[in-house]
Amino acid sequence: MADKERIFLASPHMSDAGYEMEYIKEAFETNWIAPLGANVTNFEKEICDKLGCKAATALYSGTAAMHLALKLLNVKEDDLVFCQSLTFSATANPIIYERAKPVFIDSDKETWNMSPEALERAFQKYEALGQRPKAVIVVHLYGLAANMDEIKRICKKYDTLIIEDAAESLGTSYKGQMTGTFGDYSIISFNGNKIITSSGGGMLLCNTEKAEEDASKALFWATQARDQARYYQHSELGYNYRMSNIVAGIGRGQLKVLEERVAKKREIYHTYKNAFSDLPDITMMPIHDELEHSNCWLSCIVLDNESKVSPLDIQLALEAENIEARPIWKPMHMQPFFSEYDYVDNGGVSEWLFDKGICLPSDTKMTENDMDRIIKIIKGLW
Ligand SMILES: *Cc1c(COP(=O)(O)O)cnc(C)c1O
Repeated sequence: MADKERIFLASPHMSDAGYEMEYIKEAFETNWIAPLGANVTNFEKEICDKLGCKAATALYSGTAAMHLALKLLNVKEDDLVFCQSLTFSATANPIIYERAKPVFIDSDKETWNMSPEALERAFQKYEALGQRPKAVIVVHLYGLAANMDEIKRICKKYDTLIIEDAAESLGTSYKGQMTGTFGDYSIISFNGNKIITSSGGGMLLCNTEKAEEDASKALFWATQARDQARYYQHSELGYNYRMSNIVAGIGRGQLKVLEERVAKKREIYHTYKNAFSDLPDITMMPIHDELEHSNCWLSCIVLDNESKVSPLDIQLALEAENIEARPIWKPMHMQPFFSEYDYVDNGGVSEWLFDKGICLPSDTKMTENDMDRIIKIIKGLW
C-alpha cells in the first residue's frame, strides 16, 4: 500500500547528483580507505570556509568532539561545567567521561535554549561558594539559535569559555554569523538523522586565538596520542576518534547540498505553520526571523495546557499510519543517570516543553502528499 509507506522523522538524504559517491570513488581509487586522506583534510577546510571558523578536526562523532572540547578546556575530576538541560544526552555525557560535575541550566520560552537569567543565577550561586565552572555548554536545539549575545556577555563577565553544541544547527545563522563559530570551541554532528550526514561523524571547531594549535592537539588525542618518536611512545592518554576518509567523502558530498536541505526544512516548517494557523491549541517552535536564519532541523510544536489533544495522542495517531514523530528531549536534570547533579530552574520551561511538545516528521524527502497526510491526521484529532 503506497499510502502507508513509512515517513521518517529525519533520515539520510543523499544528493541527487551523486556527489558523495564521487568522493568515495576517489578514495577507493587512491586507496585512501583508512583514516587520513584528502577527503578528511578537505572536509575540515570546506567546513571552516563555509562557517567562517579558524580550525577544525574531523572525528567519528559529535560526542567525541564534545569530549575533546572539554579536554582542551582542561576539564578534570570535580570541575564544574554549566550545561543546558534541555538537550540530547550526548551533550552532557562527556562531562562525566572526565568525572566533572554538570550543573544543568533551564531554557527560556523565547529560544527554547539556555536561559541567560538562569545562567547568571548559576554563576552567582557558585561564586558565593567560591567556585567557577571551567566551561558553559550552550545548545542550538532543533536548529533554533540560542540567545548568544546575552550568553556571551555573561560568560565574558565571569571569564568563562563557551562550548557551543551546534550538532542540530548546522546551517543556522544568528545575526548573520553561522552557529558553530560563537563558541571558543564548537561541535557539529553528521549522524544519520542530522541535517546532513556522513553516515556518522562529527567535527570539533576551534575559534580560540590558538585555534590551529588546539585543533592539532585534538588530532593528537584522537589518533592515540602518539609522541614524536620512532617507536610507539605515549605520554598522554589517547583515543581512537578520527574520522575515516570514506566517511569524510560522504560528508563532503553532503556539504554541497546543505543550503538545499535548509531550504526544504524551512519549507516543511512553514507548511506546518500555515496548516495549524487555525488551531489555537498549537504553538510552533519560536523562530525569530529578524535575528536568525534557522535550519529548522526538526519542526516542533507545543500544545496548550488546556488542549484536549496531547503530544502522545499525536504520536500514536501518526504511528498508526506508519509515520514517525518523537517527544521533545527529556531534560538532563530529569534523567535518572544525572539525578544527583544540580539544576538551576527558570520556571520549569524545559519540563513544560518535554511535557507538551512534540517533534513532527521533518524528513527532507517528504512530498507535498506526505505532508498533507500528516496534517490531515493531526487535524483529525480536534
Ligand atoms: C546528535 C547530537 C549530538 C551528538 O552527535 P553524534 O555525532 O551523534 O555523537 C550532540 N548534541 C546534540 C544536541 C545532538 O543532537
